[in-house]
Amino acid sequence: MNAPFNPPADLDVAIIGAGFSGLCMAIHLKKAGYKSFTIFEKAGDLGGTWRDNRYPGCACDVPSHLYSFSFEQNPDWSRSFSPQAEIWRYMKDCAGKHGILPHMRFNAAVASAAYDESAQLWRLRLKDGETVTARAVVSGIGALHLPAFPKIKGLETFAGRAFHSSDWDESYDLAGKRVAVIGTGASAIQIVPNIAGKVKELSLFQRTPSWIVPRMDRAFSDKTKSRFRRFPRLQRALRHVIYLALESRALGFISRPGMLKAGEKMARDYIARSIPDPAMRQKLTPDYAMGCKRILISDDFYGALTRPNVELVTDAIREVTPQGIVTEDGKLREFDALVYATGFRATEVLAEMRVTGRGGRQLADDWKDGAQAYYGIAVSGYPNFFMLLGPNTGLGHNSIIFMIEAQTRYIMDCLRWLRGGGEVDVREDVQRDFNATLRTKMERTVWKSGCRSWYLNENGSNSVIWPGFTVDYWWKTRHARRADFTVRPAKVAA
Ligand code: NAP
Repeated sequence: MNAPFNPPADLDVAIIGAGFSGLCMAIHLKKAGYKSFTIFEKAGDLGGTWRDNRYPGCACDVPSHLYSFSFEQNPDWSRSFSPQAEIWRYMKDCAGKHGILPHMRFNAAVASAAYDESAQLWRLRLKDGETVTARAVVSGIGALHLPAFPKIKGLETFAGRAFHSSDWDESYDLAGKRVAVIGTGASAIQIVPNIAGKVKELSLFQRTPSWIVPRMDRAFSDKTKSRFRRFPRLQRALRHVIYLALESRALGFISRPGMLKAGEKMARDYIARSIPDPAMRQKLTPDYAMGCKRILISDDFYGALTRPNVELVTDAIREVTPQGIVTEDGKLREFDALVYATGFRATEVLAEMRVTGRGGRQLADDWKDGAQAYYGIAVSGYPNFFMLLGPNTGLGHNSIIFMIEAQTRYIMDCLRWLRGGGEVDVREDVQRDFNATLRTKMERTVWKSGCRSWYLNENGSNSVIWPGFTVDYWWKTRHARRADFTVRPAKVAA
């Protein structure tokens, strides 16, 4: 006997995560007239990565006029690359303006989600044991929230303070301290210039140098902001210009890595201008193709490295001891604090949550050789389960919010088919063909040109990045095609 469909207590949509993704989904649901939806957020506030990452100097490396919702332009961005606090405030303003706050449940981490086929419902179990049911689930948990710690002998023995860049210890004053920063990725190059002036000594441990070009950040004057306010089209035009400028780089990433040679020259010239010591220049010059790892932008990182109290260490780390770090040459450097700017476990999408689909299948099993989905949004065998920023929808060249908006519109199409109940499940053959094409395209990209990066899993496969133009993604996801899905009607009580 089938269970009755949709008892009143069931949510229409359960959204997991209150970052940019969850917020975008909630705003679209609200605009479409949905009332029965809740965002379950593990932390005590909204904001996702912009709530967590509060290290000194944290700012977006995509210009703010593009790194924001297309439907919620902000004329008041203070700079071309606005700092974390401003982005976080923008998100809170969006949530308030669109009436999303009453739909948020904080400190409500979802431990598991299981599909009940007979009831056509998802049962979500929260970490405190509570169970909630929803017709559809949208995961907005993002890819950059599980901190990655280096696998270094003796890490836990360190007697001073140690913390990850995404869990900055604001209670700890770095002034006058001896500090080690491990890693030279996007987070480290923002942290180093912002702490170098106050610490006593700073050692930056670099395993692989990054390609870095000038950020050319600038403040917007009150006059410019007021123009943006009075003439929203002016701001929109700026947004389009930024989008096109970033999008034009995609060809270099996806099929013509040679096109990024001009960027490499710009970066080499930047090193030459900024670093007087030839040996140090060499250490800072990457030996892999630009774009293989994320291209970084900074106006002050190289300058910070030339300070007398800053040391660039390229000897490999042998172990961490209670006093500090020992490198392979046997030298011990003593520290008061260690900062792990060592990134995130981006390939372990949905690793924190047990997801059970049709017939008891587990997403962790289906993804044991790498995560796969259809446009990163739906996975066959998991009806009415959708993802924002799911597998292969990350970007190396443009604003991720563009992808979130495209995905949200697509999910809204799927949800419309569910208005009367029932289920939608992407067809397995459609998903398989999609991924076969995607893998073929991936082989030609710069991300497979032979560097180690967080885009690749242990098998060397890239389940993080979209190997194409974002405009192509937008075009292909502008409508959900019913033929790509198995759409089943609502079951009725027997
Ligand atoms: P990341 O780019 O993954 O960099 C991690 C760094 O840690 C790398 O330099 C890595 O070296 C190093 N590392 C890892 N294990 C190590 C070990 N055992 N010994 C020495 N070094 C080690 O991480 P992230 O800087 O946190 O950035 C992650 C992503 O977050 C970025 O790519 C970006 O998408 C996002 N982000 C964005 C912004 C923004 O402005 N929008 C700011 C920060 C972060 P290898 O290169 O050798 O692996």
